[in-house]
Amino acid sequence: MFFDDEDDFTPEDRLVQSTKGEFDFEENVLRPKSLEGYVGQNKVKENLKVYMNAAKQRGEVLEHVLLYGAPGLGKTTLAHIIAAEMGGNLKLTSAPAIERSGDLAAILTNLNEGDVLFIDEIHRLNHSVEEILYSAMEDYALDIIVGKGPSARNIRFSLKKFTLIGATTRAGMIANPLRDRFGIICRLETYTPDELKDIVLRSAAKLNIAIEDGAASEISRRSRGTPRIANRLLKRVRDFSTINNNVKVTVDDAKFALSKMEVDELGLDEVDRALLRAMIEKFDGRPVGLETLAATINEDAGTIEDVYEPYLLQLGFIARTPRGRMILRGGYEHLGYKLTEKQREQISLFDKNDD
Ligand code: ADP
Repeated sequence: MFFDDEDDFTPEDRLVQSTKGEFDFEENVLRPKSLEGYVGQNKVKENLKVYMNAAKQRGEVLEHVLLYGAPGLGKTTLAHIIAAEMGGNLKLTSAPAIERSGDLAAILTNLNEGDVLFIDEIHRLNHSVEEILYSAMEDYALDIIVGKGPSARNIRFSLKKFTLIGATTRAGMIANPLRDRFGIICRLETYTPDELKDIVLRSAAKLNIAIEDGAASEISRRSRGTPRIANRLLKRVRDFSTINNNVKVTVDDAKFALSKMEVDELGLDEVDRALLRAMIEKFDGRPVGLETLAATINEDAGTIEDVYEPYLLQLGFIARTPRGRMILRGGYEHLGYKLTEKQREQISLFDKNDD
């Protein structure tokens, strides 16, 4: 039921995807071990420091923490750091792995005082499992119903005091009773190119990769604000340098490798571009429903929503409108299209409605 990070492979091969894939097996080596090594997210770090120090001073366990933000922004890494700082063991699991309430009960009864339980994708817990969590979080107790019908009885077991860290990419999908039980809620933001460059340089040092400063900048600019993507691109760029017998990764190596991988200057890959192209060529810039768009480029609607769309929205290349997804000026221009009069009108209609 628990998974080691190394075992959690998903059979995806997209270089700039932010969810974990088969390229990320060195992730544990690259994880910073302390808050000092954790780059960026300054507000979150400052607050967490206060909460952790206060809990330590009072001799209490840390309150439950909800971390939310896109995949690859450092939620699991932060859970490792919190457990290490608080001196507890970390147990990692994910909501889809907890099928029955008995599974969760088994996990909870095995926790020791001060342990940290990390549940990834916590918005995907099924309802009966989630209900077990309520009393566990609030009273450190497990309420189990024994027997059936009129002879059913409620038995309460006490649990050791632990900290739950829930991670989610969809804060809006967490039911209020669950959200209310988290004392600490932190939202992780995408990283600036400078922060990503810092991460690339630190990762290069850990992996014994010699790299030019400019090459690190080139990688960080194309990493969609996401450390996981930055680390992945670094490793692939290194491969190209190795093949060229270069001892140091140069700017040219980085540019060449990234163009070979079809990752453009903004970090868009072939799928992103196909999506934008479909919006222009198949729908002439009109709003299009997510399902229709997904069918057109032969992708899963959920994947578009979770993986591709957030970055395109962030760049302002597309917009979500009540009538569907719509491509905006930046999207056309990035692909080198000149807008027709009709397409321009579509966008100005959207802008008016948006005011
Ligand atoms: P998430 O759980 O949000 O999907 P992870 O915590 O697994 O993301 O982070 C993915 C990778 O990115 C890790 O290997 C880690 O080394 C790196 N990483 C994430 N956040 C940071 C950070 N703030 N500083 C340095 N490296 C980071």
